[in-house]
Amino acid sequence: MPQSRYYGEYGGVYVAETLVPALIELEQGLLHIVPDEEFQNEYRRLLRDYVGRPTPLFHARRLSKELGVEVYLKREDLNHTGAHKILNALGQTLLAKKLGKTRIIAETGAGQHGVATATCCALLGLECTIYMGADDVERQRVNVERMKMLGATVVPVKSGTRTLKDAINEALRDWTTNVRTTHYVLGTVFGPYPFPQLVRTFVSTIGFEAKAQFTEAFGGLPDVVVACVGGGSNAIGIFSAFLEDDVELVGVEAGGLGIETGKHAARFQTGKVGVFQGTKSYVLQDEFGNTLDTYSVAPGLDYPSVGPEHAFLHDTGRVRYTYVTDTSAVSAFRMLAKLEGILPALESSHALAYVIENAAELKGKSVLINLSGRGDKDLSIVISYDGESKKHHGGMRNA
Ligand SMILES: *Cc1c(COP(=O)(O)O)cnc(C)c1O
Repeated sequence: MPQSRYYGEYGGVYVAETLVPALIELEQGLLHIVPDEEFQNEYRRLLRDYVGRPTPLFHARRLSKELGVEVYLKREDLNHTGAHKILNALGQTLLAKKLGKTRIIAETGAGQHGVATATCCALLGLECTIYMGADDVERQRVNVERMKMLGATVVPVKSGTRTLKDAINEALRDWTTNVRTTHYVLGTVFGPYPFPQLVRTFVSTIGFEAKAQFTEAFGGLPDVVVACVGGGSNAIGIFSAFLEDDVELVGVEAGGLGIETGKHAARFQTGKVGVFQGTKSYVLQDEFGNTLDTYSVAPGLDYPSVGPEHAFLHDTGRVRYTYVTDTSAVSAFRMLAKLEGILPALESSHALAYVIENAAELKGKSVLINLSGRGDKDLSIVISYDGESKKHHGGMRNA
């Protein structure tokens, strides 16, 4: 599968010819540098001493009792910078350095991937430029300041909808021009091959750890593994270790204000197969193939397409994809805070909300949830959230 650059019919390399040499160089890096002992030693040392891994596996006892479901949380919220994203950012920046690149660029939506990348650039002494939609720059002032503090240059992108997908287009444009000195740290299991496979390689640490921790503690495997799906990296990260096992896998997309309102990011509910930003996958698009605007209360889930391996896992039926609404995610956030003393990211709250909503059906089962990040960043959204008024006035993020 990796050699073919496709996952079934999905994936591929749909880019301008000028980028092909860089993608081939990256593929060589994935095949020959990443598996190398020297690279692995350095990566693992930094994961341990800098990122704080392994992250714990936590049995959420009060929540379990409340739901009648045994709930285990993979605590990715405890990573340095607050989410799983640093696994990928660290892996790619280390690889870029080995490839002799001196400059890093990245796209960011709400700023989480930008912060993770800027952090790794500070750590490794690399020049860093972050592309961010101009509207997102306005909305995410704190993360913009964090990135600047870390030494990065933040470039507001004023074209298109002035959000994430425009930032990606601009980053690709920069990369095309400066490919000799520059590496583009793509933020999820998306984009032209080998990005989906490269990112998968780095985030799969989540699944390896969780499986070993679960087996050691309970002498078996969980019945169900649940993760939220934005681009799909935290989900692939945990699913990858269980694909060959008799374990039910559930991916939870952003149902936003409800599928019928059109204000959501549930690609597997109403998306169609298409090519978007270098890869073939499910895309939310109109009848003419124009990408649709998406909406979710969780910034990291607010994207019109999804990683190509997820499209493949969807079609084969190995993973079941479903969605929950903003309202459910916000209640799940509040519930975990009250019952376990953990503020989950609003993205991760989608995975939690699925388990809460389906507790009757999951009764007596053991469920492993990937708690992809911490929710401090979302506190103001949750405080001001009023499900009913939002439903009548439309979304606030991407509207
Ligand atoms: C960015 C983000 C996500 C969504 O990205 P994936 O690639 O789907 O994992 C999920 N959770 C958190 C905490 C994030 O920051």
